[in-house]
Amino acid sequence: MATLEFDDRSSSVVPKDIVTAALPIDESAVLVLRNAILAKLTYAVGTTPAHAKDRDWFVATALAVRDRIVDRWASSHGADGQAGRKHVYYLSLEFLIGRLLSDTLHNLRLTEPVREALAGLGVDLDELRSIEPDAALGNGGLGRLAACFMESMASLEVPAYGYGIRYEHGLFRQIILDGRQYEQPEDWLCQGNPWEFERSDVIHPVGFGGTSEEVQAPDGSRAFVWIPAETVQAVAYDTPIVGWRGRHVNALRLWSARATECLLLDAFNMGDHVGALASRTRVEAISRVLYPGDTTDAGRELRLRQEFFFTSASLQDLLARHIRLHGDLATLPDYAALQLNDTHPAIAVAELMRLLIDEHRFHWEDAWAITTKTLNYTNHTLLPEALERWPVSLLERVLPRHLQIIYQINWLHLEPLTRGEIDVDLVKSLSVIDESGGRYVRMGHLAFIGANKVNGVSALHTQLMRQTVFRDLHAVYPTRIVNKTNGITFRRWLHQANPRLSALLVDELGEEVLDQPDALLGLEKLADDQAFQNLFRKQRAAAKADLAKVVAELLGETISPDALFDVQIKRIHEYKRQLLNILEAIALYSAIRAEPERHWVPRVKILAGKAAASYHQAKLIIKLANDVAKVINSDPLVAGRLKVVFLPNYNVSLAEAIVPAADLSEQISTAGMEASGTGNMKLALNGALTIGTLDGANVEIRECVGAENIFIFGLTAQEVEARRRSTAHQEPDAWSARLRGALELIRVGTFSPDEPHRFDPLLHALAVDDLFMVTADFDAYWAAQRQVDDLWQSPSAWWRASILNTARVAWFSSDRTIREYAEEIWRVPVQ
Ligand SMILES: *Cc1c(COP(=O)(O)O)cnc(C)c1O
Repeated sequence: MATLEFDDRSSSVVPKDIVTAALPIDESAVLVLRNAILAKLTYAVGTTPAHAKDRDWFVATALAVRDRIVDRWASSHGADGQAGRKHVYYLSLEFLIGRLLSDTLHNLRLTEPVREALAGLGVDLDELRSIEPDAALGNGGLGRLAACFMESMASLEVPAYGYGIRYEHGLFRQIILDGRQYEQPEDWLCQGNPWEFERSDVIHPVGFGGTSEEVQAPDGSRAFVWIPAETVQAVAYDTPIVGWRGRHVNALRLWSARATECLLLDAFNMGDHVGALASRTRVEAISRVLYPGDTTDAGRELRLRQEFFFTSASLQDLLARHIRLHGDLATLPDYAALQLNDTHPAIAVAELMRLLIDEHRFHWEDAWAITTKTLNYTNHTLLPEALERWPVSLLERVLPRHLQIIYQINWLHLEPLTRGEIDVDLVKSLSVIDESGGRYVRMGHLAFIGANKVNGVSALHTQLMRQTVFRDLHAVYPTRIVNKTNGITFRRWLHQANPRLSALLVDELGEEVLDQPDALLGLEKLADDQAFQNLFRKQRAAAKADLAKVVAELLGETISPDALFDVQIKRIHEYKRQLLNILEAIALYSAIRAEPERHWVPRVKILAGKAAASYHQAKLIIKLANDVAKVINSDPLVAGRLKVVFLPNYNVSLAEAIVPAADLSEQISTAGMEASGTGNMKLALNGALTIGTLDGANVEIRECVGAENIFIFGLTAQEVEARRRSTAHQEPDAWSARLRGALELIRVGTFSPDEPHRFDPLLHALAVDDLFMVTADFDAYWAAQRQVDDLWQSPSAWWRASILNTARVAWFSSDRTIREYAEEIWRVPVQ
């Protein structure tokens, strides 16, 4: 057994390059796998080992592994069906999954056997993994949460379906050219997807437009039928999601839009070859892209069509399943719990009512009771511009019957308030219809009224929900809002993304740490242990060296693993304040240049993230980061002390490479604006120390890790609110010399000599109202960063804090989150 450099104890860690808590490998199992992969390569892919390309090997391996899942899938299903267990249905317009091969192998405990099976065929598993395209069916945290929840529900053996859209093009690929972001279409399906099963027998019709007609029901009462102008077919594609140790498998069912008629044959035969396909193109646009641009009316309408398309297909699907298993929809709430991930599927309130009343002949009151016992809604943002509202005129055109139902729901909801003296402001605030300039349907209100439980995603966010957007609704329904702080799956974000740390943990804490996040607490007693600290450092150093290689490949920039890796990776948004981070980099650059002889802690600032295509300020922030990087990285005076790198095309796979290598985690949003964050959890779990504001789940991270193991700075949510109210905006004269100096460098064109005014829009926003409090928090942020420097200079104190972060964040496992949903919201049993 090799002895490690820092290891003064006799036992333990073998310097395995890639280590997943190694199991003894069963040679006959390896042989069986090898044959299975070869058979797939030959008969499913249709090639031979001599001619196979990397992609062919990937597909053959995925198919061989998928067979193992299918066996378990069948048994999971049989068991749930027979036991008549309650199902959870998770409706989400986004699932940001990433790659599935590593995750699946890890959960099936097949990583090492498959590695060996492939090695015998002359194929390297790690190269194969990088062939798989990321399934990027989401923008960021909200979609990644849905993916973590799917994995945890499978691991906890909760019978569940995820429902969403099978976008042909996921989130755009970000290219950085001359420091600017360009968007390219993401083509993840272009070479097929070995994980999915097309269910061409599972098809539901989804209507659009037309009219709502009053008719006489068989019993003589009046009823409505919707006669849509257009009908689209939703075709199911299932991806099996396997839980930990392969105990249970659930399906992620994604809908693809298909025209009812493939081709207008008459038109085609008359010579109109393009026109014959036009309506088909229009229909199939529904599942073409994630988040169609919303700057045009056509883009917004397409988005509404997407939302209704997947919501209606999913509801029809689960109602059909319920009828098949239980006969009568009256018992739906006993066997189905629906979770609406944000308001994107909020039209479910009206669609479930329509299906129950118009198609299944329920009376309004009974349908309403079923709906409000079955649906639940998760709110993800308080930002007014992000709360969905649809123009009444648009709904009237696209979903006329639903608008009618929404009016009725709203009337019954407001009617009690109209008895006696009417409080007009209260009625306005509670109404589903927003009449302040134009008429809109507030989807958050609709979801709230139609739900059994409404939840926020961190303690602070839930409290703010009760005090702000839903204040009046909360007063009417005081028990409806509950908190469910987000979590992340440790299987992906620790054990699989960071195999070295995982192996170290298994060595110290035993295999239990793979099953039981709370076992991490066992690290507390090792936090001061010099030998363990050295092992902990060593795994980080190796991950940093790996990331340095990635940086060299992507940017041609050399970064030293000895430097402090300071990481901010997330969507680029003004409220997330990448600008604050860049300003600090500029100020630090000036300070180093002013005193180059002083001892400076070597630091590499690593940024990554995408900006929405139409978000100009965010794109300008990307340009600034890149321009600043160019100047700093080429200045010999600061060489070896400060570097800034912006890594292109942030996605799940890049996150998996960066997270294990981070020393410092930037979570610096304007307090009150980040609902939870989950990047903060991934980084803390892997031992990065957080520098952050008291925002979202940072508040709870501080409670867990202890105030002495996190760097908190800046205005609180309450203080931000108070400043916003007071008209006395902090004048530029009140800015510190350091802040003014940094802004001045930008203003005079130090980073944009070819275009000195390039960043005026950013400077202007800071000078005029600084909505995101960048200038107000700058000095506190600078001071906190210098505390970071101080701690870094006492390595044993730094590593103690780092180890305690990993030890104390078990609570942020999405298994804990799912258990809470299961107990308090869904009322389903868990393992
Ligand atoms: C975790 C994750 C996010 C969310 O990050 P936040 O820091 O919470 O905003 C976004 N994108 C990807 C790819 C992620 O893995």
